[in-house]
Amino acid sequence: MSTSTWRDNLRTIEPYVPGEQPDLEDMIKLNTNENPYPPSPKVFAALKEFDCDSLRLYPDPNSGILVSALAKRYGLQEDQVFLGVGSDDVLAIAFMTFFNSEKPILFPDITYSFYDVWAELFQIPYERPALDEHFDLIREDYYKGNGGVVIANPNAPTGVLQNLDFLRDIIEHNQDVVVIIDEAYADFSGTSALELTEEYDNVLIVQTYSKSRSLAGMRIGYAMGNPELIKAMNDVRYSYNSYPMTRLSVALGKAALEDEEYFRETVEKVVETREWTKKELKRLGFSFRNSQANFIFATHERVPAQTIFDALREKHIFVRHFNQKRIENYLRISIGTRQEMEKFIRETENIILVYRKMLVM
Ligand code: PMP
Repeated sequence: MSTSTWRDNLRTIEPYVPGEQPDLEDMIKLNTNENPYPPSPKVFAALKEFDCDSLRLYPDPNSGILVSALAKRYGLQEDQVFLGVGSDDVLAIAFMTFFNSEKPILFPDITYSFYDVWAELFQIPYERPALDEHFDLIREDYYKGNGGVVIANPNAPTGVLQNLDFLRDIIEHNQDVVVIIDEAYADFSGTSALELTEEYDNVLIVQTYSKSRSLAGMRIGYAMGNPELIKAMNDVRYSYNSYPMTRLSVALGKAALEDEEYFRETVEKVVETREWTKKELKRLGFSFRNSQANFIFATHERVPAQTIFDALREKHIFVRHFNQKRIENYLRISIGTRQEMEKFIRETENIILVYRKMLVM
């Protein structure tokens, strides 16, 4: 037996568990909220034209081209935009940068389950006020002294959207800390709190290319807010990685932004299919909040979520199930193409029928 003691000084942490990424030809993948449509044709063109020779050189540390394109798209100055390797990277850096108080940061008990992992990793104290029985935030829970606030809007995995007045109220009550609004799914809701960054210098909006821009595989996320917030985040980021964004992600990220029409079209299609899927799920006996994201978080009146999850999986239809208190009987179903959702509904209907027959026998 080794007598070395290096194990005494390991940082041990329970990591976030992302949805599985199976690679089956016939699968319908509705488990990680990806976009069912390919990236814009302009992204394909940019990839063809990409100067491969340039890869021997480090990229621009500031990713200036993409920062500038995003600033233009959102009507901001360049010093109001921060870029990261997916919004996970952006959020992790924001946690590190802003949450250094002794007081706990606040986020709901049911929300993106990476928040508590980052808090653990960076040793930030945190509390998770419970959502109400309809999965709405209780605003008064966020009035007490704290070290920061994080709100996903629409929330994940519930899909519930809080309106701007609600967010404004929480921000008003939290002027001494940074309030992060995680808008990973905001494009599917038609609402963004970006305008609040003009009124409040302590609000950071975080968005991503992974969902509405069909580029989960490129890993591009960004934050928008007051230049002081952005500079503080950049100081932290450049303290451990000088060249975060690859040349390719900058080129493709810029190309995607240049196709506003395609972006609108695909978002609209996802929203249309979401609304169709809601009607069908209701018909099958599911209940759910009125999701404003690209997924629906639903529970069935009779059939346990785990049973549906397993049976769908056998058919190579992948949805997400969280083994977590309060939500263990729910499934989070990402919105695929209309054709995929029709197959999903057909198979789910069969599963429910078989289960009912089994109960009668
Ligand atoms: N925020 C929320 C609420 C999410 O659901 C996700 C997706 N897992 C992310 C952030 C991170 O997405 P990405 O790193 O792909 O931008």
